[in-house]
Amino acid sequence: MKYYSTNHSAPLASLEEAVVRGLAPDKGLYMPEQIKSLPTEFFDRIDTLSLQEIAFEVAKAFFGDDVPDDDLRGIVYDTLSFDIPAVRVTDNIYSLELFHGPTLAFKDVGARFMSRLLGYFVRKEGENRQVNVLVATSGDTGSAVANGFLGVPGIHVYVLYPKGKVSKIQESQFTTLGQNITAIEVDGVFDDCQALVKNAFMDAELNKAMKLTSANSINVARFLPQAFYYFYAYAQLKKLGLASNLVICVPSGNFGNITAGLFGKRMGLPVYRFIAANNANDIFYQYLLTGDYNPRPSVPTLANAMDVGAPSNFARILALYDNSVDAIRADIAGARYSDTQIADTMRQCLASTGYQLDPHGACGYQALCDLLRPDEVGVFLETAHPAKFKEKVDDITSSDVAIPERLAAFMRGTKQSVPLSKSFDDFKRFLLAENKK
Ligand SMILES: *Cc1c(COP(=O)(O)O)cnc(C)c1O
Repeated sequence: MKYYSTNHSAPLASLEEAVVRGLAPDKGLYMPEQIKSLPTEFFDRIDTLSLQEIAFEVAKAFFGDDVPDDDLRGIVYDTLSFDIPAVRVTDNIYSLELFHGPTLAFKDVGARFMSRLLGYFVRKEGENRQVNVLVATSGDTGSAVANGFLGVPGIHVYVLYPKGKVSKIQESQFTTLGQNITAIEVDGVFDDCQALVKNAFMDAELNKAMKLTSANSINVARFLPQAFYYFYAYAQLKKLGLASNLVICVPSGNFGNITAGLFGKRMGLPVYRFIAANNANDIFYQYLLTGDYNPRPSVPTLANAMDVGAPSNFARILALYDNSVDAIRADIAGARYSDTQIADTMRQCLASTGYQLDPHGACGYQALCDLLRPDEVGVFLETAHPAKFKEKVDDITSSDVAIPERLAAFMRGTKQSVPLSKSFDDFKRFLLAENKK
């Protein structure tokens, strides 16, 4: 399968090229040339299949031309080493709990898949040079990527994060790992970290000395595997006899997660419609209302992983729907919630159902409460475990959220990180010295 750029001025790329490059040379996002439909027979028996079996069928449609079945099965099964249950919250609302992976958030799925696919390419090429993944993080991406790549042979990960700007819980998830993961604590803000990574990719001397790649969320190998769990959500609701008018609601920031679901629908997954839930950063909500796309600087909210002012996957949605706002409106409804509403939802849901939401999932749950029609059943994606935001969640809902053991284990670990200034020269010197080790 070849991949084209949403800007249409870059040559078609192979899967391997698209994965190693991340962004296309014309700064567009890679899209698969075809989206294969899955046979009716697959949907007829999908409720008898496991998450891994379902995911393997979906993965074959995307990656089957490029990765032999046995290798692909290994990658998929190893990626999905945890369950993604659909849990009943009310009679017609279910929570798809995407937080049972190593870092308790949905980004684990894409990050684990990408690391294993990149590991496969490195082995296949008999690559004797180490591949270095550079990632800038304000919290969640760093932990998902670092844990996804932990122990993958031939690959080293450098996580750059802003000193003092990342919560202790988040920091512990990527600074305590050791092995092939190096955490770099930059004396600056997130934008400085991102600038260091961007400069590194553009530096000729550095790229000659070392093989560098990114693990950005726009990477096709992180983005496409997110389709897997939409099929599994459908399978679980079908088993309960509740899948005939299924609505899936996705708390959205960069819109990678929901776009993967839209790909699923294009492959034949019988989802009736989608809802994109925004926080106060409601650029997509406004786009649906007005037909105008007006990106603007993000504002901080309770659901901070959705604080995005220019959703990077918007270009993919436009490509998928041939730039037609009406076609987009036919498949996706919008909603947006202020911090006050998010906090109210968290309290009300806990009081009336006993279900503890995290601030992101709260946007998804509330959108279903507001927009679900009587003949529909809704599933919202619970994108992170409430314990990841323990202080806020405890404060809002007057509770004491239990910390899952795998999160507690990170917090017991010893922090190992390299302090660096925000100067590119320092960063470059550091990387070149690492490379000589
Ligand atoms: C990244 C993230 C989101 C937003 O997902 P997008 O794919 O960027 O739309 C939502 N919730 C949580 C917890 C996240 O980490």
